[in-house]
Amino acid sequence: MKLKNNLKNLRFNIFIYFLIFTVALIFIVWILQAVFFESNYKNVRYQTMRTYSDIIKQGIDFNGQVNESAVLTLKENGIDAIILTTPNPNSIGVLYPRPQYVTPQSQLYEIYSNILNNYMKEGVTSFSGEQSFTQNKTAMYNISRVEYKNDNAYLLLISDMQSLDEIAKVMRFQLIMTTLIVIVLSLFFSWLIAGRLSSPINEMSKVAKKWASGDENATFNEIGYTEITELAKTLNYAKTEKEKSQVLQRDLLANVSHDLKTPLTMIKAYAETIKDISGENKEKRTKHTEIIIDEADRLTSLVNDILNLSKLQAKVLPLEKTNFNLSKTVEDVLLKFEPILKNGGYVLVNKIQPNVMVNANEQKIEEVIHNLIGNAINYTGEDKIVKVYLSVKDGKASLEIIDSGKGIQSNKIDTIWEKYYRSSETHQRPIKGTGLGLSIVKAILLSHEIDFGVISKEGLGSNFYAVFDVVNNNKLDKELKV
Ligand code: ADP
Repeated sequence: MKLKNNLKNLRFNIFIYFLIFTVALIFIVWILQAVFFESNYKNVRYQTMRTYSDIIKQGIDFNGQVNESAVLTLKENGIDAIILTTPNPNSIGVLYPRPQYVTPQSQLYEIYSNILNNYMKEGVTSFSGEQSFTQNKTAMYNISRVEYKNDNAYLLLISDMQSLDEIAKVMRFQLIMTTLIVIVLSLFFSWLIAGRLSSPINEMSKVAKKWASGDENATFNEIGYTEITELAKTLNYAKTEKEKSQVLQRDLLANVSHDLKTPLTMIKAYAETIKDISGENKEKRTKHTEIIIDEADRLTSLVNDILNLSKLQAKVLPLEKTNFNLSKTVEDVLLKFEPILKNGGYVLVNKIQPNVMVNANEQKIEEVIHNLIGNAINYTGEDKIVKVYLSVKDGKASLEIIDSGKGIQSNKIDTIWEKYYRSSETHQRPIKGTGLGLSIVKAILLSHEIDFGVISKEGLGSNFYAVFDVVNNNKLDKELKV
């Protein structure tokens, strides 16, 4: 099992592939060496002979002299230059480097008379080939016609093939050395590179394990290779998103229970009113039952709404805004609080400018007003005064919900909007809160980009406000016509 795992291991695989690549490379070099070295070497050699043959021939044609420096260069390269003549078919004379006649029995005679007779026929000016002298001695040659000192002659270049064997030996030795060095180096480097590539991945899997086991501080290291950095970034992003969604789920649960409580209180209050007071009075009973139905509807839509709100906080849902009458919405919310206000002996002061049209999500704004009025009732002072104002100035509608309570300490003004924040003091409240109301208000108003805040003076009370853009009636008419 362990061996199987090791075989799948990234480090081991990179190592193996690297090794295979190196061996393949060396194999190709060996093949090239074995198959092509000789023919390549000969081609280069023939080319050299042809080039020098032309150079020497040009010199002879020009002034009858042999270009000595060209001959010397050739000699250094293991090529001899000889000028031969055939005064008669049975003897070959060496005109250069020193005049000397070769007897018909001599080796050179045999070989070159054969070449001359076989290949240097009419019209052929030069010829290259290989010729063996004794059993293991072979030479490459290039022969071409020249006119040397008014004589019909042949320029013969002979390359000793022995040098080829030696070069081949040296090359083979070097190749063996190179192969050994390359294999050792490739073993070392492939192991090193494989380690370097796999270690950040191993590191990541360690972090992932830590994270999975509940360590929230485990972070993926965003340094190193681009791909690894990208992966680490993605994993960190996934981690933050997962954490966000966990918080979201927690909030959701708390929000749901908080927001369900208020309508339930209302339903209970109205049901009790019907039971004790308005049961016999058909008109009142119908009105109160309608409120109960309304609240039940509100409950249903609240559940949906809270789901949406949670998404809203995560900024995944677009706000569905409509133009609606804010004045009417405020009145409706106040109507729902009527029994609590009346039964609790509250003094409601409301100055609501009629028909103020705004563009927002009506349900969510209703929730804001509901929460703010609920808080004002909860936190107002002994005089039990709750003021609700809606007024328009310079195209802006200000909604103010004012109480005469203890107010909020200036160092707590920012904290009250945070989730689960609740003042430490406990006092009797008609509506029980969970410390989520203001955070919901904040999330809704922020998502609407509506300016909001609180002005509070300790001992005097608080003024929670929100400033809406008023929808111009003319503009509205036009939009409706379109
Ligand atoms: P809850 O009212 O359920 O505790 P909220 O989020 O509505 O939760 O309010 C958070 C806190 O802000 C409250 O616990 C309270 O301390 C403070 N607060 C809210 N409204 C008022 C107000 N009108 N006057 C004074 N303090 C307030």
